[in-house]
Amino acid sequence: MTEPTKEKELPNLLLVEDNVENKDVITYFIRAISKVDSTIDGPSAIEMAKAKKYDIILMDINLGLGMNGLETTKRIRMIEGYEKIPIVAVTAYAMVGDKEIFIDAGCTHYISKPFSKQEIVDLIKSIILDRDTE
Ligand code: MN
Repeated sequence: MTEPTKEKELPNLLLVEDNVENKDVITYFIRAISKVDSTIDGPSAIEMAKAKKYDIILMDINLGLGMNGLETTKRIRMIEGYEKIPIVAVTAYAMVGDKEIFIDAGCTHYISKPFSKQEIVDLIKSIILDRDTE
């Protein structure tokens, strides 16, 4: 007897983006390949990460006033279970040396805005694939 094919669970993804329009567009881009929760600021992102285990985090670096994405990432890394999960830095600016700053803060990947649906979908798919083949 053959086992019924178990559908692979979509990853739980936390999107942190202070621009509501961007947040809605990115959510629309990736909703077919992940279960998206989103928020607009660092403190709420930290609370959400404590309350639910996310598989991937998309972290806008410039979150306006208050805690930025790098500080938010550092604090999420200190939460139990979040030592190793992929955190993608999302930013409009990309200068030489920026990538090192993101990595130092605990981000594992990087994508610069504006990006296409294909680019973000490809990145998330590659992250999921890496995770599943580990
Ligand atoms: Mn922003």
